[in-house]
Amino acid sequence: MNGKFQGKVVLVTGGSRGIGKAIAERFYTEGATVAITYLNHFEDAKDLLRKYPEIMVEKCDVRVRTSVSHAVNSIVEKTKSLDLIINSAGVMITGKFTDFDEEVYRTTMDTNLKGIIYVVLETFPFLKRSKNAAIINIASNAGIGTAMPGTTLYAISKAGVIMLTKRLAYEFADDRIRVNAIAPGWVETDMTVQGKSQDEIDNIKRYFKSHSTTGRTGVVQDVASAAIYLASEESSFMNGQVLVIDGGRTDNLTHSI
Ligand code: NAP
Repeated sequence: MNGKFQGKVVLVTGGSRGIGKAIAERFYTEGATVAITYLNHFEDAKDLLRKYPEIMVEKCDVRVRTSVSHAVNSIVEKTKSLDLIINSAGVMITGKFTDFDEEVYRTTMDTNLKGIIYVVLETFPFLKRSKNAAIINIASNAGIGTAMPGTTLYAISKAGVIMLTKRLAYEFADDRIRVNAIAPGWVETDMTVQGKSQDEIDNIKRYFKSHSTTGRTGVVQDVASAAIYLASEESSFMNGQVLVIDGGRTDNLTHSI
């Protein structure tokens, strides 16, 4: 397939659903060789495969280094190279900060933060051989301080992702690997609507629309477009940055980063 990413190999973690899936589809239609990882929802990964049989699918738990290593090596065995990494795998467990138990703490930090570290460590040897390599981390506007009830632990993990992004851009300067992050606002995916009634979802959407300067809530394609930009040559002078994709939230405009 022709396109601006022809000849590039992209790995999208958490590419089986939501934002990661939309990103994988966009890279595929832009001509890239695409590999995704899933953890629990093989059916969703299979949906993507039915549509695009060439997409490579690997099971991977980003919390476990050997699992990441296995997935990365099995992809590179087929592709022989890796150019772009999109770290989208993530969880959001909401609740009162003081009520969280060790398991919630571990799941959140290990998936959202340590998971990216493992993926970076395992893909680095391949990325440094690539021309124009880039890593794009899906953070969240929670990580720059946007408050939403019950998301303190999640916000801390995403703030970590943002600092990791900045420091990796610095660390990998000599290897010419750019590292940027996207901080989406509320986007309708399983993560944000699962377990909620239609009324609750409508209320949430009303709230975010009323706090948006663009008059709508986010969709997965908004984040995919940002990922395409950050992976392309058009952003070649951007490194260590956070692109906030939140519809211009009125309560953020004064302290965007
Ligand atoms: P989602 O629909 O719930 O998808 C989450 C993805 O992460 C799934 O593919 C899931 O795989 C994978 N995953 C979860 N735990 C994993 C683990 N331990 N190892 C490997 N993969 C794992 O969520 P989403 O809304 O697309 O979110 C994607 C990213 O965007 C997350 O980092 C999230 O924090 C961030 N984000 C989302 C929003 C939003 O409003 N939706 C806003 C800001 C940031 P399986 O399904 O196969 O288990």
